[in-house]
Parts: sequence; structure tokens; C-alpha cells
Amino acid sequence: MPKPAARNLAAVLIALLTVAAFLLIINPKKIFEAYRAKKSNDSAPRPSTFKQLVEEQKSTPAATPSPTPIPLTFEQMNDKYGPCVKSSVLMYHHIQKELTEPEYLTVTTNVFRQQMDYLKKQGRVVISLGELADFFKTGGNTPSKSAALTFDDGYFDFFTEAFPILKELGLKATVFVITDEVNQPGYLTWDVIKEMNRSGLINFANHTRDHQNVGGDYSAVEQQIVIADIALKQANTNVPKIFSYPYGITSQNAIKVLENLNYDLAFTTQSGNILCQGQRLALPRIRIGNSSLSYYEL
Ligand SMILES: [Zn+2]
Repeated sequence: MPKPAARNLAAVLIALLTVAAFLLIINPKKIFEAYRAKKSNDSAPRPSTFKQLVEEQKSTPAATPSPTPIPLTFEQMNDKYGPCVKSSVLMYHHIQKELTEPEYLTVTTNVFRQQMDYLKKQGRVVISLGELADFFKTGGNTPSKSAALTFDDGYFDFFTEAFPILKELGLKATVFVITDEVNQPGYLTWDVIKEMNRSGLINFANHTRDHQNVGGDYSAVEQQIVIADIALKQANTNVPKIFSYPYGITSQNAIKVLENLNYDLAFTTQSGNILCQGQRLALPRIRIGNSSLSYYEL
């Protein structure tokens, strides 16, 4: 005869096995689906650094959660928000010789060079954002395989690393400047901004005065955008008027301010390559890292 303790243990084991068998036999589909859901969740991109985590938290404040994007086809988008054009607006921050922190905001000079060569080889026509604004105004044509280049924050490495490559290849770009940071260490100076603006390739556009998110009240948001607008005007740039939302956060107040200031286009950090007139003040972009552009479906 087994001892009572061993008998209890055996009874518990049998009970557990019965429950497990019941779950597997009765509802294996549900279990599989739960597993698959977990898997796809795991493969979603996740913040790699603490700073990135903080940035992402900032960009998705609890008070104004982003709606879950429902992917629409080009035709559906065109019906709803059209006219639309399929074009990839690439988003960069730092271009640096070495991959230094923050890595997720940095593309190395060598990779950037390869990416620009790739655009040319693929026959992509790099348009200025002015050409995109014209498309929305006049409904004209944009090339069927187009792309546009944007650089956020106005770091000085744009001048030393990106601009020489863009100039050599004759590629147009837009740099979104935080105007209070101009002339500060690590950021562009007004002198080089004016120099690059004279090349006719680069437009410097509005990324607010000091990179506060524009989710606040109307007058605070207006101040952020108007002060930057005046500074850019003095440097003879930001024509046409183009804006990029700090942290990608849009708001009704910001859109109202931009409309009242006659802004043509505004960009979020939302991912997408269908650009529609009806969304011209909340357009998507594609965040580029250190992979080949084919990875980003270009
Ligand atoms: Zn920024």
C-alpha cells in the first residue's frame, strides 16, 4: 500500500493531467490562436533603449491614444481623402560616420550613401516637398516611382555627412529645424542653413521653436509654431510652408494653427506611403534605419 502523502500526490497529478488533456482535446484551436497572437505580438518592433522607450511613451500619451490603424487600400484612401499619391517620404535624424547613441536615430554615412545610390539605381525620382504641395494644390502629376527625403531636428551632421552626398547626387531634401537649437552645440548654424538653402536643393522647415509636443492649448501651440516660422522666414526658407510634429504627436489645435498660418503640409511619424490631400496636415513617413532600402519596401 502507498503512503497517504504519495497517494495525494498521485491524485493531484492525475487531476492536472486530466485538465490539460481536456483543454487540448476540447479546444486546441483556441490554444493555437492564443499562441499565434502571442507570437505576432513578440515580433512587433519594440524599444531597444531606455531613451527610445521614453520617446515612445511621449509619442503615445494616455490622454490622446492613437487610433488602431486600419490599413486601407489605395483606392479606399483615394475615395476617402483623395486625391492621393503613392510616394515614400523617408525620415532620418542623425547621419554619422560611426553608429553611436542614439542608434535608433542614427544612420551611418556609408549606409546613407548606399541608400541614396539605391534610390537612383531603382529609378526613384526624389521630389521636393514643394512638388508634393503643388500636387495637392493643382492636382498635377507626380512621378509614379517617387520618394522624398526628410531629416528631423537639424543636427550639424546633416551638413557634414548628408549634404555632400545629396549635393553630389543632386538630390533634394527637407530639414525640419528646431529653431531655438540653431547655433547650439551639435545643431546647424544659421550660416550653414543659409549656405545650403542657396544650393536650391535643401529647404529648411518648421519643427517648432523648442521641440515641445503640440498637444497643448491653442495659444501655446501657436507660439511654438509662429516663433519658429518667423525665424525661418528671416533665413529666407520654409517656402512652401511645411511642418513636422515633434514626437509625431498631432492635435486638433496644431492643425488649426497650421491652417491659420497657411501651411501646405505637415508630417507625423506614422508609417505609410499613401499621401492624400485630405490628410495633408497629418501625412505619414517611413522611418529609415541601417538596412538596405529594399527592407523598407522601396
Ligand atoms: Zn524631432
